[in-house]
Order: sequence, then structure tokens, then C-alpha cells
Amino acid sequence: MTAEPAALRLEIWGARGTLPVAPDDPSRFGAKTCCVSVEAGGRMLIFDAGTGIVPLGNRIHAEKRREIDLFLGHAHYDHVMGLPYFAPFYDPACRIRIHAGHMQDGKTCRELLADFLRPPFHPVGLEKFKAEIDYVTFRPGDRLDPAPGITVATAPLRHPNGAVAYRAAAGGRSLVYATDHEHLPGSRDEALERFLHDADLLVYDTTYTDAEMPLFKGYGHSSYEEGIRLCRRAGIERLVLFHHSHKRSDADLARIEAQAQAAFPGAVAGRPGLRFDLAPVADRLPA
Ligand SMILES: [Zn+2]
Ligand SMILES: [Zn+2]
Repeated sequence: MTAEPAALRLEIWGARGTLPVAPDDPSRFGAKTCCVSVEAGGRMLIFDAGTGIVPLGNRIHAEKRREIDLFLGHAHYDHVMGLPYFAPFYDPACRIRIHAGHMQDGKTCRELLADFLRPPFHPVGLEKFKAEIDYVTFRPGDRLDPAPGITVATAPLRHPNGAVAYRAAAGGRSLVYATDHEHLPGSRDEALERFLHDADLLVYDTTYTDAEMPLFKGYGHSSYEEGIRLCRRAGIERLVLFHHSHKRSDADLARIEAQAQAAFPGAVAGRPGLRFDLAPVADRLPA
């Protein structure tokens, strides 16, 4: 064993989609909406700012972390609802870069957030943030390099108003966060398969099942079966089912997880506290 830290450490803070509720209270799979942290080389990368970002922010504050990169997949409520309650925004010692790239109307990242955080929807605006904040606007397909040795590639997803998939890589490992995406049943998405190629782990929008897809055409979501097909085609061994419908009970999600695992043993249903440590690739080589 080695004391060397993971190349990438992924933790789920919120795996629910659409609304921060669950039929079971408490729920094994949580009610908090989309938020995932990835630690790499001592840096903190955060994907989406659903209500799961609130406890993450409290931990970042307690650990006195100062450098944070927040990547927004898109700006639907379930992905930004936790933003005003992210403690590091109010800490003058923090430096935070917020990256957004899905906008189809030409808005900048800062304009997007200023629109969202303003009266009467919220009592105060961005001017209340005390941290040093850089608002980064990019286009899906751009590569973002938050720190030396850490790359984040981006790709467009098929979703109303647009959404972005992120591929984070460090230490020879990579993982993809791809949620809020509607696949076209019966056809392959070769561009997305290329983007996923050979990643170690995929966090994927599994709101529906294949059987449900025709009922929700145009809603912008995918199925766990498609997540498995993508993993097989791209050579990915681990699949995190994500963006659970707020209508799914724990029993529903346990059944879906069991079905997914029967077909693909590397599948697991996302839930707060679920964590993966991906060791640097060199660790696996013989001495
Ligand atoms: Zn969503
Ligand atoms: Zn959405």
C-alpha cells in the first residue's frame, strides 16, 4: 500500500434531479440535488451547485481550503439552487473560479449568475460575495486547465437550454461528469463515446429506464441502460447512476441499482457520501 494520495477522489454530495425531495424521508439515496466534488493534487473541483453543495461548502470552510474551481453543467434550478448558501463565497480568504459554458444566448458566466441571484428571487446579489471570484465563460468543447497537472475537457450534451459534460484528468486517471442529457433511443452518439473513451469512471444521467424514455421525449434525460451501453463502448468499468427522479422511492432505486449491477457489475447508485479514490496510474505498475 502507498500513502500517496489518490490521483482523483470523487465524492457525491447530491444525486437527486429536478427537486430536492424524495418519497422516503430519510432516503438512503438522499434528497439533495446535483453536486459532486473531485479532489486532485490538493485542489478542489466541484461539478454543479445543487443543494448538495451546501454541506460540501461547510466542509471546505472547516478544512480552510482556499482554492476552488466550480464548474456548472447548466443553470437549471436543480443544478444551481445551493449557490447562495455555499459558505466559501462569504470567506475573503477564498479564491473561487466559476466556469459556465452552456449558454446559448451569449450570456457570460457573470451575467448568468447575476440574473439568478437578485431580488426578488433572492434578497441579495453577487456583490455580497466576499471571496475573490473569477467568472469564466467558455464554449462546450473548450479545454480548461484549472491547475498544473489537472485538465478538464468539456463537451456539449443534448438538453433543453444546453448542458455541458466535464472530463477531469490527473495522475493518469480520468472521470466524466455527464448529466442532463437525452440520448436518441436506437442510435449511437459517437461524439460522446469519443469524449468518454477510456475514462475510469462515469457519473451519468439515469433519470429514466429505457422503457420510460418514449414517455419523456424532449425532457432532456437518459436511462441507466444507456449509461451501461456508453460504458461498454468507451471501455469504462465504473458507472455512477445519477440525477435520480424525485419520484423514485428507495425501493425503486434499489431495484434499478440491482438491475444495473446484474447487467454491469461496476454500476452503483449515487448517494451522498459515496466516494471513489482513483490511485495514480504509476501505483499499479510492478516495482
Ligand atoms: Zn437536472
Ligand atoms: Zn436540466
